[in-house]
Amino acid sequence: MNGPRLHIDLDEFASNLDVVRARVAPAGLMLVVKDDAYGHGLDRIVRRATREGVDWFGAFDVAEALRTRAAAGPGSRVFSWLTVGAEEIRAAIDADIDLGVGDAGFLEDIGAGARAAGRPARVHLKIDTGLHRNGIRPEDWATVVGRARELQDEGLILVVGAWSHIAEASDQDDDDARAVFEDAVVLAEAAGFDLEVRHLSASAASFARAEFRYDLVRVGAFCYGIRSAGGVPEAELGIRAIASLQAPVTHVGDHAVTLGVGFLHGVPSSLGRHGALRVDRKSVQITSVGEQHTLVASFGPASVGDDVAFFGPDGASATDLAEKIGTVGEEILVRISPLVPRTYSGE
Ligand SMILES: *Cc1c(COP(=O)(O)O)cnc(C)c1O
Repeated sequence: MNGPRLHIDLDEFASNLDVVRARVAPAGLMLVVKDDAYGHGLDRIVRRATREGVDWFGAFDVAEALRTRAAAGPGSRVFSWLTVGAEEIRAAIDADIDLGVGDAGFLEDIGAGARAAGRPARVHLKIDTGLHRNGIRPEDWATVVGRARELQDEGLILVVGAWSHIAEASDQDDDDARAVFEDAVVLAEAAGFDLEVRHLSASAASFARAEFRYDLVRVGAFCYGIRSAGGVPEAELGIRAIASLQAPVTHVGDHAVTLGVGFLHGVPSSLGRHGALRVDRKSVQITSVGEQHTLVASFGPASVGDDVAFFGPDGASATDLAEKIGTVGEEILVRISPLVPRTYSGE
């Protein structure tokens, strides 16, 4: 019998891309592909997105940015925001990666890397707007901008962007963050930088709040059809989950059926204590999650060997599961073991 598999519908992904782009226009979309495109498989996601005309990608580290560059080809822009060492800076510059810069030391390292590479590095300066998660503090911003100006005048960098990241948890906090961002942009422009892109928001604020879109939005979750926990339902957003976790029925008892998927495959065992869920369009009770098996009660007619969707567009979504155990849909997806095979439609 087959084991579980994660099936990814790339046509559904393309529809989500259309929905997101229509919503944020005239701002552009940077598709965020961190964590192997949230567990969906970076290479295929990037290839399909490129075919759909996506021309900005957001990768977390340089290794992921290089994979993205290889899959996307030379025409698109790939942004990477993790602070890294000299060797990786050099590799990033050689592969034409845009670098997010959230501290003064990293800016110097990039200058040195560009000198060695013999070509300037494209840089997006990051202001810390309150999350305290890597970013230049407002009180240091003028100094760092001044130093960036010197490096640009030496031909070592090109400052093409200003950016930050916001919590998207409360409108008031986001508004405060946006005010800090606006001041930072004014200062950067006063220093003579011709900013090609200002970017601040991720999925939730990009959708809900036009004034947060600027030139570019960095969206991951909604493109994969993952709604925010406690947020607007998928149907209202116009998106659909692109991944479904398929599992075989391995045993049928009088009051329960066993599915061949468990915590070794990445299903959180804590789901076993959390009540009714819709699995494969039916309302079921997850009784327990073991190593390789999950016991579900009141499943209705089923035969050994049936393939059911544990989560996916037609039953519980990853976010529905996540809400049961106090996390977010992204976590359900990135926890699916790399050993679970991925299958694709719409390649
Ligand atoms: C993950 C991430 C995003 C995308 O967030 P979503 O909510 O998945 O759209 C954007 N920017 C940064 C810096 C991120 O880390």
